[in-house]
Amino acid sequence: MRKIAELKFDNTYRRLPEDFYHLVKPTALKNPKLVCFNSDAGSLIDLDPNEVMKPEFIEYFSGHKLIPGSDPLAMYYTGHQFGVYNSDIGDGRAILLGEVRNFVGEKWDLHLKGSGRTRYSRVFDGRAVLRSTIREYLCSEAIYALGTPTTRALCIIGSDEEVERETTEKGAMMLRMAETHIRFGSFEAFHYTDRPDYVKLLADYVIEQHFPGLIGEENKYYMFLKDVVSRTAQLMAKWQSVGFAHGVMNTDNMSITGLTIDYGPYGFMEEYDPEYTPNNSDHFGRYSFQNQPAIALWNLNKLALALGSIISRDRAQEALEEFKNIYSNSFVRNMNRKLGLKTARPEDVDLIKGLLKIMVTEKVDYTNFFRKLSDFTSPDPGLNRNLDSMFEDKAGIGDWAVLYKSRLDAENSDDYERKREMDLVNPKFILRNYLAENAIKKAVNEADYSEINLLHKILKDPFSEQSEFDEYADPPPDWGRNLVISCSS
Ligand code: AMP
Ligand code: MG
Repeated sequence: MRKIAELKFDNTYRRLPEDFYHLVKPTALKNPKLVCFNSDAGSLIDLDPNEVMKPEFIEYFSGHKLIPGSDPLAMYYTGHQFGVYNSDIGDGRAILLGEVRNFVGEKWDLHLKGSGRTRYSRVFDGRAVLRSTIREYLCSEAIYALGTPTTRALCIIGSDEEVERETTEKGAMMLRMAETHIRFGSFEAFHYTDRPDYVKLLADYVIEQHFPGLIGEENKYYMFLKDVVSRTAQLMAKWQSVGFAHGVMNTDNMSITGLTIDYGPYGFMEEYDPEYTPNNSDHFGRYSFQNQPAIALWNLNKLALALGSIISRDRAQEALEEFKNIYSNSFVRNMNRKLGLKTARPEDVDLIKGLLKIMVTEKVDYTNFFRKLSDFTSPDPGLNRNLDSMFEDKAGIGDWAVLYKSRLDAENSDDYERKREMDLVNPKFILRNYLAENAIKKAVNEADYSEINLLHKILKDPFSEQSEFDEYADPPPDWGRNLVISCSS
Protein backbone atom coordinates (compact mmCIF):
# COMPACT_ATOMS: atom_id res chain seq x y z
CA MET A 1 0.00 0.00 0.00
CA ARG A 2 1.25 3.48 -0.81
CA LYS A 3 0.97 6.88 0.80
CA ILE A 4 -0.48 9.53 -1.49
CA ALA A 5 2.89 11.20 -1.86
CA GLU A 6 4.38 7.86 -2.94
CA LEU A 7 1.98 7.22 -5.84
CA LYS A 8 3.91 6.43 -9.02
CA PHE A 9 2.93 8.75 -11.84
CA ASP A 10 3.50 7.96 -15.50
CA ASN A 11 1.94 10.92 -17.30
CA THR A 12 1.74 9.59 -20.85
CA TYR A 13 -0.95 11.99 -22.09
CA ARG A 14 1.21 14.91 -20.99
CA ARG A 15 3.88 13.74 -23.44
CA LEU A 16 1.56 14.40 -26.40
CA PRO A 17 1.91 17.82 -28.10
CA GLU A 18 0.61 20.87 -26.22
CA ASP A 19 -2.34 21.25 -28.62
CA PHE A 20 -3.87 18.24 -26.88
CA TYR A 21 -4.38 20.04 -23.55
CA HIS A 22 -4.13 23.14 -21.44
CA LEU A 23 -1.55 23.02 -18.64
CA VAL A 24 -3.49 24.36 -15.69
CA LYS A 25 -3.62 23.73 -11.96
CA PRO A 26 -6.77 23.21 -9.90
CA THR A 27 -8.22 26.30 -8.22
CA ALA A 28 -8.52 25.57 -4.51
CA LEU A 29 -11.89 25.26 -2.79
CA LYS A 30 -12.67 27.38 0.28
CA ASN A 31 -12.71 25.45 3.59
CA PRO A 32 -12.55 21.98 2.12
CA LYS A 33 -13.88 18.99 4.07
CA LEU A 34 -14.08 15.30 3.40
CA VAL A 35 -17.50 14.10 2.28
CA CYS A 36 -16.75 10.49 1.37
CA PHE A 37 -13.93 8.17 0.43
CA ASN A 38 -14.10 4.91 -1.47
CA SER A 39 -11.33 2.56 -0.41
CA ASP A 40 -12.28 0.10 -3.19
CA ALA A 41 -11.25 2.66 -5.81
CA GLY A 42 -8.23 3.54 -3.68
CA SER A 43 -7.07 -0.06 -3.79
CA LEU A 44 -6.91 0.16 -7.60
CA ILE A 45 -3.95 2.53 -7.21
CA ASP A 46 -2.67 0.71 -4.10
CA LEU A 47 -3.61 3.69 -1.95
CA ASP A 48 -3.29 3.05 1.78
CA PRO A 49 -6.85 3.64 3.10
CA ASN A 50 -5.43 5.26 6.25
CA GLU A 51 -4.28 8.15 4.11
CA VAL A 52 -7.81 9.55 4.20
CA MET A 53 -7.29 10.38 7.87
CA LYS A 54 -4.48 12.83 7.13
CA PRO A 55 -5.17 16.52 6.53
CA GLU A 56 -3.10 16.36 3.31
CA PHE A 57 -5.68 14.04 1.77
CA ILE A 58 -8.23 16.84 1.70
CA GLU A 59 -5.63 19.32 0.49
CA TYR A 60 -4.60 17.11 -2.42
CA PHE A 61 -8.13 16.59 -3.66
CA SER A 62 -9.44 20.11 -3.19
CA GLY A 63 -6.77 21.91 -5.18
CA HIS A 64 -4.73 23.16 -2.22
CA LYS A 65 -1.71 20.96 -2.81
CA LEU A 66 -0.29 19.00 -5.75
CA ILE A 67 0.60 15.34 -5.35
CA PRO A 68 4.31 14.91 -6.10
CA GLY A 69 4.63 13.61 -9.67
CA SER A 70 1.31 14.98 -10.90
CA ASP A 71 1.40 17.35 -13.84
CA PRO A 72 -2.11 18.74 -14.15
CA LEU A 73 -3.78 19.54 -17.44
CA ALA A 74 -7.23 20.00 -18.94
CA MET A 75 -7.87 17.75 -21.93
CA TYR A 76 -8.97 19.21 -25.26
CA TYR A 77 -11.96 17.78 -27.08
CA THR A 78 -15.00 18.91 -29.00
CA GLY A 79 -18.18 17.06 -29.84
CA HIS A 80 -21.69 16.77 -31.14
CA GLN A 81 -24.13 17.96 -28.51
CA PHE A 82 -27.77 17.07 -29.16
CA GLY A 83 -26.83 16.48 -32.78
CA VAL A 84 -25.04 19.79 -33.30
CA TYR A 85 -21.28 20.13 -33.54
CA ASN A 86 -19.71 22.31 -30.84
CA SER A 87 -16.09 23.23 -31.51
CA ASP A 88 -15.71 24.92 -28.16
CA ILE A 89 -15.64 22.29 -25.40
CA GLY A 90 -12.78 20.47 -23.67
CA ASP A 91 -12.44 19.89 -19.93
CA GLY A 92 -14.04 23.07 -18.67
CA ARG A 93 -14.23 21.98 -15.07
CA ALA A 94 -12.09 18.90 -14.69
CA ILE A 95 -8.35 18.47 -14.59
CA LEU A 96 -6.30 15.37 -15.24
CA LEU A 97 -3.89 15.45 -12.29
CA GLY A 98 -1.85 12.67 -13.84
CA GLU A 99 -1.74 8.93 -14.51
CA VAL A 100 -0.83 6.57 -11.69
CA ARG A 101 0.64 3.14 -12.28
CA ASN A 102 -0.20 0.47 -9.69
CA PHE A 103 1.89 -2.50 -8.54
CA VAL A 104 0.63 -4.71 -11.36
CA GLY A 105 1.37 -2.09 -14.00
CA GLU A 106 -2.18 -0.87 -14.67
CA LYS A 107 -2.49 2.84 -15.25
CA TRP A 108 -5.28 5.01 -13.82
CA ASP A 109 -6.12 8.60 -14.68
CA LEU A 110 -6.68 10.76 -11.60
CA HIS A 111 -9.23 13.25 -12.82
CA LEU A 112 -10.43 16.01 -10.53
CA LYS A 113 -13.90 17.31 -11.36
CA GLY A 114 -15.07 20.75 -10.19
CA SER A 115 -11.46 21.90 -10.06
CA GLY A 116 -11.88 25.42 -11.43
CA ARG A 117 -11.70 27.24 -14.71
CA THR A 118 -9.56 26.11 -17.64
CA ARG A 119 -9.03 27.42 -21.17
CA TYR A 120 -12.12 25.41 -22.15
CA SER A 121 -14.51 26.79 -19.51
CA ARG A 122 -16.18 29.35 -21.81
CA VAL A 123 -18.44 31.55 -19.63
CA PHE A 124 -18.84 28.90 -16.94
CA ASP A 125 -17.30 28.76 -13.49
CA GLY A 126 -15.33 25.53 -13.65
CA ARG A 127 -17.07 24.23 -10.56
CA ALA A 128 -19.27 21.27 -9.68
CA VAL A 129 -21.88 21.36 -6.93
CA LEU A 130 -22.01 18.89 -4.06
CA ARG A 131 -25.36 17.54 -5.32
CA SER A 132 -23.95 16.51 -8.70
CA THR A 133 -20.74 15.02 -7.29
CA ILE A 134 -22.82 12.81 -4.97
CA ARG A 135 -24.89 11.67 -7.95
CA GLU A 136 -21.76 10.82 -9.92
CA TYR A 137 -20.01 9.12 -6.99
CA LEU A 138 -22.94 6.87 -6.13
CA CYS A 139 -23.90 6.02 -9.68
CA SER A 140 -20.45 5.17 -10.95
CA GLU A 141 -19.97 2.75 -8.06
CA ALA A 142 -23.49 1.32 -8.49
CA ILE A 143 -23.00 0.82 -12.23
CA TYR A 144 -19.63 -0.80 -11.59
CA ALA A 145 -21.21 -3.26 -9.16
CA LEU A 146 -23.74 -4.17 -11.86
CA GLY A 147 -20.85 -5.35 -14.02
CA THR A 148 -20.93 -2.38 -16.39
CA PRO A 149 -17.71 -0.70 -17.58
CA THR A 150 -17.44 2.74 -16.00
CA THR A 151 -15.21 5.41 -14.57
CA ARG A 152 -14.77 5.02 -10.79
CA ALA A 153 -15.04 7.46 -7.91
CA LEU A 154 -12.38 7.84 -5.23
CA CYS A 155 -13.65 10.67 -3.04
CA ILE A 156 -15.66 13.85 -2.74
CA ILE A 157 -14.36 16.93 -1.01
CA GLY A 158 -17.02 19.49 -0.03
CA SER A 159 -16.49 23.16 0.75
CA ASP A 160 -17.97 26.49 1.75
CA GLU A 161 -17.48 27.85 -1.73
CA GLU A 162 -20.69 29.33 -3.12
CA VAL A 163 -21.62 28.26 -6.63
CA GLU A 164 -24.50 29.77 -8.57
CA ARG A 165 -26.87 27.38 -10.28
CA GLU A 166 -30.71 27.62 -10.21
CA THR A 167 -30.05 28.49 -6.57
CA THR A 168 -26.81 29.10 -4.69
CA GLU A 169 -25.21 25.78 -3.85
CA LYS A 170 -21.94 24.62 -2.33
CA GLY A 171 -19.03 23.64 -4.56
CA ALA A 172 -17.30 20.27 -4.30
CA MET A 173 -14.65 18.27 -6.11
CA MET A 174 -14.78 14.61 -7.00
CA LEU A 175 -11.75 12.53 -7.84
CA ARG A 176 -12.63 10.26 -10.70
CA MET A 177 -10.53 7.39 -12.00
CA ALA A 178 -10.47 5.62 -15.36
CA GLU A 179 -8.05 3.88 -17.69
CA THR A 180 -8.49 6.98 -19.86
CA HIS A 181 -10.79 9.96 -20.22
CA ILE A 182 -10.31 10.20 -23.99
CA ARG A 183 -13.62 10.55 -25.79
CA PHE A 184 -14.97 10.27 -29.33
CA GLY A 185 -14.86 14.09 -29.23
CA SER A 186 -11.09 14.05 -28.67
CA PHE A 187 -10.74 12.76 -32.25
CA GLU A 188 -13.39 15.12 -33.60
CA ALA A 189 -11.43 18.08 -32.21
CA PHE A 190 -8.53 17.42 -34.58
CA HIS A 191 -10.63 16.24 -37.50
CA TYR A 192 -12.73 19.40 -37.65
CA THR A 193 -9.70 21.66 -37.28
CA ASP A 194 -8.13 19.85 -40.21
CA ARG A 195 -5.19 18.28 -38.37
CA PRO A 196 -5.09 14.68 -39.68
CA ASP A 197 -1.57 14.25 -38.30
CA TYR A 198 -2.98 14.74 -34.80
CA VAL A 199 -5.89 12.37 -35.47
CA LYS A 200 -3.29 9.75 -36.37
CA LEU A 201 -1.10 10.59 -33.40
CA LEU A 202 -4.06 10.30 -31.03
CA ALA A 203 -5.13 7.00 -32.59
CA ASP A 204 -1.57 5.67 -32.26
CA TYR A 205 -1.46 6.81 -28.65
CA VAL A 206 -4.82 5.23 -27.76
CA ILE A 207 -3.90 1.98 -29.50
CA GLU A 208 -0.55 1.83 -27.73
CA GLN A 209 -2.05 2.55 -24.31
CA HIS A 210 -5.40 0.78 -24.46
CA PHE A 211 -5.51 -1.59 -27.44
CA PRO A 212 -2.00 -3.06 -27.27
CA GLY A 213 -3.10 -6.20 -29.10
CA LEU A 214 -3.40 -4.09 -32.27
CA ILE A 215 0.14 -2.72 -32.25
CA GLY A 216 1.88 -3.81 -35.43
CA GLU A 217 -1.33 -4.97 -37.15
CA GLU A 218 -1.51 -3.97 -40.80
CA ASN A 219 -5.09 -2.69 -40.55
CA LYS A 220 -4.76 -1.41 -37.02
CA TYR A 221 -6.93 1.71 -37.39
CA TYR A 222 -9.76 -0.31 -38.91
CA MET A 223 -9.42 -2.91 -36.18
CA PHE A 224 -9.35 -0.17 -33.59
CA LEU A 225 -12.64 1.23 -34.88
CA LYS A 226 -14.10 -2.29 -34.96
CA ASP A 227 -13.10 -2.76 -31.34
CA VAL A 228 -14.63 0.57 -30.29
CA VAL A 229 -17.83 -0.38 -32.14
CA SER A 230 -17.91 -3.69 -30.33
CA ARG A 231 -17.24 -2.24 -26.88
CA THR A 232 -19.83 0.48 -27.39
CA ALA A 233 -22.45 -2.01 -28.61
CA GLN A 234 -21.82 -4.19 -25.58
CA LEU A 235 -22.01 -1.20 -23.27
CA MET A 236 -25.40 -0.32 -24.74
CA ALA A 237 -26.61 -3.91 -24.29
CA LYS A 238 -25.58 -3.62 -20.66
CA TRP A 239 -27.33 -0.27 -20.11
CA GLN A 240 -30.50 -1.58 -21.77
CA SER A 241 -30.54 -4.73 -19.68
CA VAL A 242 -29.96 -2.99 -16.34
CA GLY A 243 -32.40 -0.17 -17.17
CA PHE A 244 -29.90 2.68 -17.12
CA ALA A 245 -30.47 5.88 -19.08
CA HIS A 246 -27.38 8.07 -19.39
CA GLY A 247 -29.25 11.26 -20.22
CA VAL A 248 -26.64 13.14 -22.30
CA MET A 249 -25.11 10.88 -24.93
CA ASN A 250 -23.20 13.64 -26.71
CA THR A 251 -20.07 12.49 -28.53
CA ASP A 252 -17.96 14.26 -25.92
CA ASN A 253 -19.54 11.97 -23.32
CA MET A 254 -18.64 8.76 -25.21
CA SER A 255 -15.57 6.97 -23.90
CA ILE A 256 -13.12 5.63 -26.48
CA THR A 257 -12.62 2.48 -24.40
CA GLY A 258 -16.34 1.85 -23.89
CA LEU A 259 -16.81 3.11 -20.34
CA THR A 260 -19.86 4.79 -18.91
CA ILE A 261 -18.59 8.33 -18.43
CA ASP A 262 -19.85 11.77 -17.34
CA TYR A 263 -22.76 11.10 -15.06
CA GLY A 264 -25.14 14.04 -15.22
CA PRO A 265 -28.92 13.87 -15.59
CA TYR A 266 -28.94 10.06 -15.74
CA GLY A 267 -31.56 7.78 -14.25
CA PHE A 268 -32.35 4.18 -13.55
CA MET A 269 -35.68 3.33 -15.03
CA GLU A 270 -38.16 2.26 -12.36
CA GLU A 271 -41.53 1.61 -14.04
CA TYR A 272 -40.69 0.04 -17.37
CA ASP A 273 -41.00 2.81 -19.97
CA PRO A 274 -39.01 2.78 -23.21
CA GLU A 275 -39.54 6.54 -23.56
CA TYR A 276 -38.00 7.26 -20.19
CA THR A 277 -35.92 10.46 -20.51
CA PRO A 278 -34.31 11.49 -17.23
CA ASN A 279 -32.92 14.83 -18.47
CA ASN A 280 -35.65 17.45 -18.11
CA SER A 281 -34.11 19.63 -20.81
CA ASP A 282 -34.16 16.84 -23.41
CA HIS A 283 -37.58 17.91 -24.68
CA PHE A 284 -37.68 15.65 -27.72
CA GLY A 285 -36.40 12.57 -25.95
CA ARG A 286 -33.32 12.36 -28.15
CA TYR A 287 -31.57 10.48 -25.37
CA SER A 288 -34.55 8.47 -24.16
CA PHE A 289 -33.94 4.97 -22.84
CA GLN A 290 -35.09 3.26 -26.04
CA ASN A 291 -33.00 5.53 -28.28
CA GLN A 292 -29.66 4.76 -26.62
CA PRO A 293 -28.43 2.00 -28.96
CA ALA A 294 -29.36 4.02 -32.07
CA ILE A 295 -27.71 7.13 -30.66
CA ALA A 296 -24.58 5.16 -29.83
CA LEU A 297 -24.42 4.08 -33.47
CA TRP A 298 -24.98 7.69 -34.60
CA ASN A 299 -22.10 8.72 -32.35
CA LEU A 300 -19.91 5.92 -33.74
CA ASN A 301 -20.65 7.27 -37.21
CA LYS A 302 -19.31 10.64 -36.08
CA LEU A 303 -16.22 8.91 -34.69
CA ALA A 304 -15.72 7.08 -37.99
CA LEU A 305 -15.98 10.40 -39.84
CA ALA A 306 -13.36 11.88 -37.54
CA LEU A 307 -11.09 8.94 -38.36
CA GLY A 308 -11.69 9.49 -42.09
CA SER A 309 -8.07 10.42 -42.77
CA ILE A 310 -6.78 7.06 -41.48
CA ILE A 311 -9.64 4.65 -42.31
CA SER A 312 -11.26 4.43 -45.73
CA ARG A 313 -15.00 4.97 -45.95
CA ASP A 314 -15.67 1.42 -47.02
CA ARG A 315 -13.72 -0.07 -44.17
CA ALA A 316 -15.34 2.29 -41.68
CA GLN A 317 -18.72 1.25 -43.03
CA GLU A 318 -17.80 -2.40 -42.58
CA ALA A 319 -16.86 -1.77 -38.96
CA LEU A 320 -20.05 0.18 -38.25
CA GLU A 321 -22.23 -2.48 -39.82
CA GLU A 322 -21.22 -4.89 -37.09
CA PHE A 323 -22.85 -2.77 -34.41
CA LYS A 324 -26.36 -4.11 -34.91
CA ASN A 325 -25.45 -7.78 -34.59
CA ILE A 326 -23.09 -7.31 -31.69
CA TYR A 327 -25.68 -5.23 -29.88
CA SER A 328 -28.59 -7.63 -30.48
CA ASN A 329 -26.62 -10.74 -29.60
CA SER A 330 -25.26 -9.15 -26.50
CA PHE A 331 -28.67 -7.78 -25.45
CA VAL A 332 -30.39 -11.13 -25.94
CA ARG A 333 -27.59 -12.85 -24.02
CA ASN A 334 -28.01 -10.44 -21.12
CA MET A 335 -31.78 -10.78 -21.12
CA ASN A 336 -31.57 -14.57 -21.35
CA ARG A 337 -29.46 -14.55 -18.23
CA LYS A 338 -31.98 -12.30 -16.55
CA LEU A 339 -34.66 -14.86 -17.46
CA GLY A 340 -32.52 -17.67 -16.14
CA LEU A 341 -32.06 -19.34 -19.51
CA LYS A 342 -28.90 -21.35 -19.98
CA THR A 343 -29.18 -21.85 -23.72
CA ALA A 344 -30.05 -19.56 -26.63
CA ARG A 345 -32.90 -20.31 -29.03
CA PRO A 346 -34.31 -18.35 -31.94
CA GLU A 347 -37.67 -17.94 -30.17
CA ASP A 348 -36.02 -16.15 -27.22
CA VAL A 349 -36.23 -12.78 -28.94
CA ASP A 350 -40.03 -13.09 -29.04
CA LEU A 351 -40.15 -14.28 -25.46
CA ILE A 352 -38.23 -11.16 -24.35
CA LYS A 353 -40.23 -8.82 -26.58
CA GLY A 354 -43.50 -10.33 -25.34
CA LEU A 355 -42.54 -9.73 -21.74
CA LEU A 356 -41.38 -6.16 -22.33
CA LYS A 357 -44.63 -5.41 -24.15
CA ILE A 358 -46.67 -6.46 -21.15
CA MET A 359 -44.36 -4.51 -18.87
CA VAL A 360 -44.93 -1.28 -20.82
CA THR A 361 -48.68 -1.31 -20.45
CA GLU A 362 -48.51 -2.46 -16.86
CA LYS A 363 -45.76 -0.02 -15.81
CA VAL A 364 -44.17 -2.72 -13.69
CA ASP A 365 -41.04 -1.91 -11.70
CA TYR A 366 -38.36 -3.26 -14.04
CA THR A 367 -35.78 -4.18 -11.40
CA ASN A 368 -38.17 -5.70 -8.89
CA PHE A 369 -39.96 -7.78 -11.51
CA PHE A 370 -36.80 -9.55 -12.61
CA ARG A 371 -35.65 -10.00 -9.04
CA LYS A 372 -38.95 -11.69 -8.17
CA LEU A 373 -39.04 -13.73 -11.35
CA SER A 374 -36.37 -15.99 -9.86
CA ASP A 375 -39.08 -17.40 -7.55
CA PHE A 376 -41.11 -18.57 -10.53
CA THR A 377 -42.12 -22.20 -10.35
CA SER A 378 -45.47 -22.84 -11.97
CA PRO A 379 -47.58 -20.82 -14.40
CA ASP A 380 -50.83 -22.30 -13.27
CA PRO A 381 -53.19 -20.51 -12.61
CA GLY A 382 -50.85 -17.61 -13.43
CA LEU A 383 -47.52 -16.67 -12.02
CA ASN A 384 -46.65 -17.20 -8.38
CA ARG A 385 -48.65 -14.90 -6.21
CA ASN A 386 -45.91 -12.31 -5.56
CA LEU A 387 -45.32 -11.90 -9.29
CA ASP A 388 -48.96 -12.04 -10.14
CA SER A 389 -49.69 -9.18 -7.78
CA MET A 390 -47.48 -6.87 -9.84
CA PHE A 391 -49.86 -7.08 -12.81
CA GLU A 392 -53.41 -5.87 -13.36
CA ASP A 393 -53.89 -8.00 -16.45
CA LYS A 394 -53.43 -11.45 -14.94
CA ALA A 395 -54.37 -13.13 -18.22
CA GLY A 396 -51.66 -11.28 -20.17
CA ILE A 397 -48.85 -12.22 -17.83
CA GLY A 398 -50.41 -15.65 -17.36
CA ASP A 399 -50.13 -16.34 -21.10
CA TRP A 400 -46.53 -15.20 -21.08
CA ALA A 401 -45.86 -17.41 -18.06
CA VAL A 402 -47.07 -20.46 -20.00
CA LEU A 403 -44.54 -19.72 -22.76
CA TYR A 404 -41.83 -19.09 -20.21
CA LYS A 405 -42.58 -22.34 -18.43
CA SER A 406 -42.39 -24.35 -21.63
CA ARG A 407 -39.13 -22.61 -22.54
CA LEU A 408 -37.72 -23.53 -19.12
CA ASP A 409 -38.93 -27.12 -19.49
CA ALA A 410 -37.27 -27.34 -22.90
CA GLU A 411 -33.89 -26.98 -21.24
CA ASN A 412 -34.81 -28.98 -18.13
CA SER A 413 -34.37 -25.95 -15.98
CA ASP A 414 -33.99 -26.66 -12.30
CA ASP A 415 -35.90 -24.19 -10.10
CA TYR A 416 -33.31 -24.04 -7.37
CA GLU A 417 -30.31 -23.75 -9.65
CA ARG A 418 -32.07 -21.16 -11.83
CA LYS A 419 -32.91 -18.94 -8.89
CA ARG A 420 -29.28 -19.00 -7.80
CA GLU A 421 -28.10 -17.95 -11.27
CA MET A 422 -30.81 -15.32 -11.72
CA ASP A 423 -30.10 -13.64 -8.40
CA LEU A 424 -26.52 -13.12 -9.58
CA VAL A 425 -27.65 -10.98 -12.52
CA ASN A 426 -30.94 -9.40 -11.41
CA PRO A 427 -30.09 -6.79 -8.79
CA LYS A 428 -32.22 -6.25 -5.73
CA PHE A 429 -30.84 -2.73 -5.33
CA ILE A 430 -30.35 0.01 -7.90
CA LEU A 431 -29.67 3.71 -7.41
CA ARG A 432 -33.25 4.91 -7.47
CA ASN A 433 -33.55 8.67 -7.87
CA TYR A 434 -35.35 9.10 -4.58
CA LEU A 435 -32.57 7.26 -2.75
CA ALA A 436 -29.95 9.56 -4.24
CA GLU A 437 -32.18 12.52 -3.40
CA ASN A 438 -32.38 11.46 0.27
CA ALA A 439 -28.60 11.20 0.49
CA ILE A 440 -28.19 14.59 -1.22
CA LYS A 441 -30.71 16.33 1.07
CA LYS A 442 -28.97 15.08 4.20
CA ALA A 443 -25.56 16.06 2.87
CA VAL A 444 -26.56 19.48 1.58
CA ASN A 445 -28.95 20.55 4.37
CA GLU A 446 -27.34 18.91 7.41
CA ALA A 447 -23.74 18.21 6.35
CA ASP A 448 -24.60 14.62 7.24
CA TYR A 449 -22.82 12.29 4.83
CA SER A 450 -23.88 9.01 6.45
CA GLU A 451 -26.57 8.26 3.87
CA ILE A 452 -24.04 8.51 1.03
CA ASN A 453 -21.89 5.90 2.73
CA LEU A 454 -24.83 3.67 3.56
CA LEU A 455 -26.15 3.81 -0.01
CA HIS A 456 -22.69 3.09 -1.36
CA LYS A 457 -22.42 0.06 0.93
CA ILE A 458 -25.80 -1.30 -0.21
CA LEU A 459 -25.25 -0.58 -3.90
CA LYS A 460 -21.82 -2.12 -4.12
CA ASP A 461 -23.41 -5.46 -3.32
CA PRO A 462 -26.63 -5.18 -5.34
CA PHE A 463 -27.24 -8.89 -5.84
CA SER A 464 -27.14 -9.86 -2.15
CA GLU A 465 -30.33 -10.00 -0.12
CA GLN A 466 -29.12 -7.61 2.60
CA SER A 467 -32.57 -8.05 4.15
CA GLU A 468 -31.90 -5.43 6.82
CA PHE A 469 -32.09 -2.91 3.95
CA ASP A 470 -35.25 -4.25 2.29
CA GLU A 471 -36.83 -0.80 2.13
CA TYR A 472 -34.02 0.37 -0.18
CA ALA A 473 -35.41 -1.97 -2.82
CA ASP A 474 -38.87 -0.38 -2.63
CA PRO A 475 -40.27 1.51 -5.60
CA PRO A 476 -40.36 5.27 -4.99
CA PRO A 477 -42.82 6.89 -2.60
CA ASP A 478 -45.13 9.43 -4.24
CA TRP A 479 -42.76 12.36 -3.77
CA GLY A 480 -39.94 10.38 -5.35
CA ARG A 481 -41.75 9.43 -8.56
CA ASN A 482 -40.77 11.27 -11.72
CA LEU A 483 -38.28 13.49 -9.92
CA VAL A 484 -37.09 16.16 -12.31
CA ILE A 485 -33.37 15.93 -12.91
CA SER A 486 -31.87 19.17 -14.01
CA CYS A 487 -28.76 19.03 -16.16
CA SER A 488 -27.24 21.87 -14.12
CA SER A 489 -24.39 20.43 -12.17
P1 AMP B 1 -21.24 18.04 -19.73
O1 AMP B 1 -22.59 18.31 -20.24
O2 AMP B 1 -21.14 18.02 -18.23
O3 AMP B 1 -20.60 16.86 -20.36
O4 AMP B 1 -20.37 19.32 -20.15
C1 AMP B 1 -20.15 19.74 -21.47
C2 AMP B 1 -18.95 20.62 -21.49
O5 AMP B 1 -19.16 21.80 -20.72
C3 AMP B 1 -17.71 19.97 -20.93
O6 AMP B 1 -16.62 20.36 -21.70
C4 AMP B 1 -17.63 20.52 -19.54
O7 AMP B 1 -16.29 20.54 -19.05
C5 AMP B 1 -18.17 21.92 -19.72
N1 AMP B 1 -18.78 22.41 -18.49
C6 AMP B 1 -19.91 21.96 -17.91
N2 AMP B 1 -20.16 22.63 -16.77
C7 AMP B 1 -19.17 23.53 -16.62
C8 AMP B 1 -18.86 24.51 -15.64
N3 AMP B 1 -19.61 24.70 -14.57
N4 AMP B 1 -17.74 25.24 -15.84
C9 AMP B 1 -16.97 25.07 -16.91
N5 AMP B 1 -17.20 24.17 -17.87
C10 AMP B 1 -18.30 23.41 -17.73
MG1 MG C 1 -19.10 15.79 -20.50
